[in-house]
Amino acid sequence: METRLLLPTKENIELSGNALRNGELVAVPTETVYGLAANALNGTAVRKIFTAKGRPMDNPLIVHISDFSQIERFNLVREIPEKAYLLAEKFWPGPLTVIMPKGSAVPNEVSAGLDTVAIRYPSHPVTQAVITAADCPLAAPSANTSGIPSPTAARHVMHDMNGKIPYIIDGGMCEVGVESTVITVVPDVPILLRPGGITLEQLESVIGKVEVSEAVLYKMKEGQKAESPGMKYKHYAPKANLILIKSSDDKYIEYINSCKKENVAALCYNEDVEKLNVKAFPYGNKNDYAQQANRIFDVLREIDESDVKTVYGRCPDTKGAAMAVYNRLIRAAGFEVIELA
Ligand code: AMP
Ligand code: MG
Repeated sequence: METRLLLPTKENIELSGNALRNGELVAVPTETVYGLAANALNGTAVRKIFTAKGRPMDNPLIVHISDFSQIERFNLVREIPEKAYLLAEKFWPGPLTVIMPKGSAVPNEVSAGLDTVAIRYPSHPVTQAVITAADCPLAAPSANTSGIPSPTAARHVMHDMNGKIPYIIDGGMCEVGVESTVITVVPDVPILLRPGGITLEQLESVIGKVEVSEAVLYKMKEGQKAESPGMKYKHYAPKANLILIKSSDDKYIEYINSCKKENVAALCYNEDVEKLNVKAFPYGNKNDYAQQANRIFDVLREIDESDVKTVYGRCPDTKGAAMAVYNRLIRAAGFEVIELA
């Protein structure tokens, strides 16, 4: 199949909407990362997503809408919990996914057989226009091959999906750069399942206490049940061996500069670059968490294009907006962290 790169013109949005309504896949830019979209009400179309990505069928997808009223209009949920209204009022449209009791119209392919469904109302004008043109909700995971870094530019999607899908809409670089925050409001005390552009602190300021799923910050134990199936998979990993270093600025520099291994590189903060004597892949300023999130996946892909064998990464903070970056990097590193006292 030929994969066509489309600019987000009015005609191309119409073309994409028609393709989606007819059961085809289209990769679309969103404010988080690029999504690989299919008509969420069509189980056969949704299956194509799993095939193109090589995604395990037991990892459910997020359903995207372009107006709050579509939740009821398309029978996506059984009920909208009170806390979902509060979150929607404050953070939608935006990088927040809310899990609610699943409605009858959602096929099992989307929810992976669960009794719940994940809903997001994205803010990106192109995503909204495509959903509106398709006139159906869109199931859309990140548009990468399963397991490798998520795509934040159209060229990343082309690299992974060329020949597998008919259309990619090029909307430039994604603004947030990491996937949406995922929260479930099904239990009485909501649970944060994946950190993203909306922080834990922001969520708690609107709905009170939010628990953090253990899998967000820690490696899951053998046999432990995942509250969010996606958390159990190895994810975002570059081909090189990535190891995180938890230390002061000076100790990090000293550790790398005295390393004797060949083809070593540093996944570091911008401020570290001039002090390092190995190849540096900076992922943002030390205290600019939004910039780190925006750059991290692109940098991980850059590392993949180099001949680097071992990468020592600065371990991000776990607070505020940095929690999302930490969550991705700790997985990319297979939870390998060296602490330097
Ligand atoms: P992606 O589509 O790649 O952004 O991943 C979606 C994330 O949301 C994965 O980590 C899924 O496991 C999670 N997710 C989607 N639907 C549900 C659900 N009903 N319950 C729990 N987690 C979900
Ligand atoms: Mg993904």
